[in-house]
Amino acid sequence: MSDDGERSTPGKGLVQGLAVTLKTMTQRSTTQQYPDVEPELPPRSRGVIALLEENCTVCMLCARECPDWCIYIDSHKEEVVVPGAARSRQRNVLDRFDIDFSLCMYCGICIEVCPFDALHWTPEFEYAETDVLDLLHSKDRLGEWMRTVPPPPAHDVLGEPSKEEATAARKAAGPGAATAAKTARPAARPPARAAEPGEPEQER
Ligand code: SF4
Ligand code: SF4
Repeated sequence: MSDDGERSTPGKGLVQGLAVTLKTMTQRSTTQQYPDVEPELPPRSRGVIALLEENCTVCMLCARECPDWCIYIDSHKEEVVVPGAARSRQRNVLDRFDIDFSLCMYCGICIEVCPFDALHWTPEFEYAETDVLDLLHSKDRLGEWMRTVPPPPAHDVLGEPSKEEATAARKAAGPGAATAAKTARPAARPPARAAEPGEPEQER
C-alpha cells in the first residue's frame, strides 16, 4: 500500500525498473574512453592560464582583481637609456609571476582585466599533481602553456573592421585619403517635390 492509501499492483516497481534497464541498454553509450582517447574540447574551455611574459607590464591589475588572491607578482625597475633622449627611462622587469591553481576558481577575471593580452585561457587540463604545492605554477611554467593556446577565431566577414585594421587601411590609402574623406562634399540632395494643391510647402 502506498503513502496516499492507494493499493499498488504487486511487481509493478520491478517491471518499471526492468523497462528502464531495457531502454538504456538499447541506447548508444556516450562514455568517452579517456585517457585512451583525448576529448575534443571547445577552444574556449577553461583549462589552465598561460602567460605571455613579454606582454606583461607589471601593472598588477590581475593580482589586485583576483578574488582568491592567488596571483603573486614581484618585479624591479630597470633604467633604459634611449639614444637621443635627455633622460633615461625606467621599465618594470618581472621577477616572479605565480598562479596558485589550488586556490584559483577559474573565474577568468585576471584574463578579462589584463589590458595587454598577457594572460590567455588554454583548454589544457592535464596538470593534476599528487602534491598540492606543485599546483603553484611559476612564470616559466605559465609561459610554457602558451603553446597550447588555440588561435583566435577568424573575423566575421560581415563584421565591422577593427580599429587597427581601419587605421592600417587609411595609412595604406595615403596621407590625402583621410583629408579627402573629411572634406568630401555630401551628395547633392534630390530636388524637392512640388507641393500638391492644398499641401503646405516643404522647408528647403
Ligand atoms: S581565474 Fe580568477 S581566481 Fe583564478 S587566478 Fe584568475 S582571477 Fe584569480
Ligand atoms: S594585468 Fe596583465 S600586464 Fe598587468 S600584471 Fe597582470 S598579466 Fe601583467
